[in-house]
Amino acid sequence: MIEILYLLLPLAFYSGWKAAKKNTIKQCITSNKLADDYVKGVNYLLSEKPDKALEVFINHPDVDEYTAETYLLLGNMFRNRGEVDRALRLHQNLMARSSLNKDQKSLVMFALGEDYLAAGMLDRAESVFQELQNSEPENVNACAPLRRIYEQTHEWEKAIEATHCSKRKKIPVTDQKLISHYYCEMAEQQMALGKLHRVEEYIAKANKNYKKSARVMVLQADLLQRKKNDEQAFQLYLQAIQQDSRLLAHLSTKIMKIALKIGKNEELEQLLLQLYRKDSSVLACLLKLSLSNASANISTDFLLNDLATKNLDIDSIIKSISILQQQERFCAEHEKLSLIQQALENYLQKKASFQCQNCGYQMQDYLWRCPACYQWDVVSHT
Ligand SMILES: [Zn+2]
Repeated sequence: MIEILYLLLPLAFYSGWKAAKKNTIKQCITSNKLADDYVKGVNYLLSEKPDKALEVFINHPDVDEYTAETYLLLGNMFRNRGEVDRALRLHQNLMARSSLNKDQKSLVMFALGEDYLAAGMLDRAESVFQELQNSEPENVNACAPLRRIYEQTHEWEKAIEATHCSKRKKIPVTDQKLISHYYCEMAEQQMALGKLHRVEEYIAKANKNYKKSARVMVLQADLLQRKKNDEQAFQLYLQAIQQDSRLLAHLSTKIMKIALKIGKNEELEQLLLQLYRKDSSVLACLLKLSLSNASANISTDFLLNDLATKNLDIDSIIKSISILQQQERFCAEHEKLSLIQQALENYLQKKASFQCQNCGYQMQDYLWRCPACYQWDVVSHT
């Protein structure tokens, strides 16, 4: 807070001085009041009395192009501190001022939309951003927040429209991925309703927008499974985890179930062994499969080395202990190993299964989009 105030202070004094300079001698008293109010307001902020500061700024009769910028920044500062009510009061007050020029009105309107968004008032935020977009079609600033709103309300068609709204000739890959996700969301909705022909339509659209999507492969595999085509579904799930091994934790139960059903346990284990050489997060699933297959494809020395040198997840360590317990050379340590395993299992019971790699938010079930930072494809097994 103090750092931001240090930034605001010179701006406030500059604004006051500039306003004062502009005025004629006749307006001298008014400009002095303006500067006085600024000093008073900033003093209240420095004394951690934001409500009193807010009153001073809001009740000040004159806002010109210079002071408006300070008001805007101050409102944004309140919002960034989580004080959305104060940000809204300040920005609403500023919006009602007739002295703002067109560009300033746009900036204040955008700030107001952000305030409503931060307050979770999605309807109002949507109205503000739409109004901004309608009044200035060439201004693309409202596109991203509108897209964020439609993601939260699950209005996927509108989210696609908002992603296109910047009217760029060539859509960047990041936006192509987003649009593909939106079609996948619609495909999942239709899958839940059992409308499989609609699922196919949306999968095709998702695929058209982003050809390398592992999520599209997962959806195609889900669809094949619904149509009782387990063999092809299995192959597609394998392709998906080869493309994005992060998905294995989310899909492992499903894949292992099909592998068992169609007699492909060995094939799956071999693929996981290959993947494990590049990505140690695959180990938990590989060991689970090895334990259920009673296979000895992972050498004990290999496992001991990885336990000693790699940053393995708890689930992998628990399963590694199970494998070691089966070895004769650890017979005498059986009891101690069981105790460690139990302690780790107790610890794991309280832990979330998945975590966002972008912001650290934890969750029990896999999600394609992090509910905290709104990023897609960033959730991994903890
Ligand atoms: Zn996140």
